[in-house]
Amino acid sequence: MHEMAITQSVVDAVCEHAEGRRVHCVRLEVGALCAVVPDSMQFCFELATAGTVAEGARLDVDVRPGAARCRTCGENFLLPDLILLCPCGSADVEVVAGRDLKILSMEVS
Ligand SMILES: [Zn+2]
Repeated sequence: MHEMAITQSVVDAVCEHAEGRRVHCVRLEVGALCAVVPDSMQFCFELATAGTVAEGARLDVDVRPGAARCRTCGENFLLPDLILLCPCGSADVEVVAGRDLKILSMEVS
């Protein structure tokens, strides 16, 4: 379950930025190509935040579709999942978005 490793690094970053303040809410943007299951991430978040300043914080996961460009026909298209195929049938595509994960915002007090 790779959500645990990803979530752990998010929680580490969040706790570092919180600098001892209490964290109430964290909003994440996750590219569809990270293949993260938001429900698993919620579960991992609860485990990873136990005993930290982010314990009990709410996690909002915003999954964004990936995007790719086809080298055969030049078309740009969205990637809802990990199937890297252009609508024209070509598999010669370049992923331009969807592999990133970022912390959009966090609420602290
Ligand atoms: Zn194409």
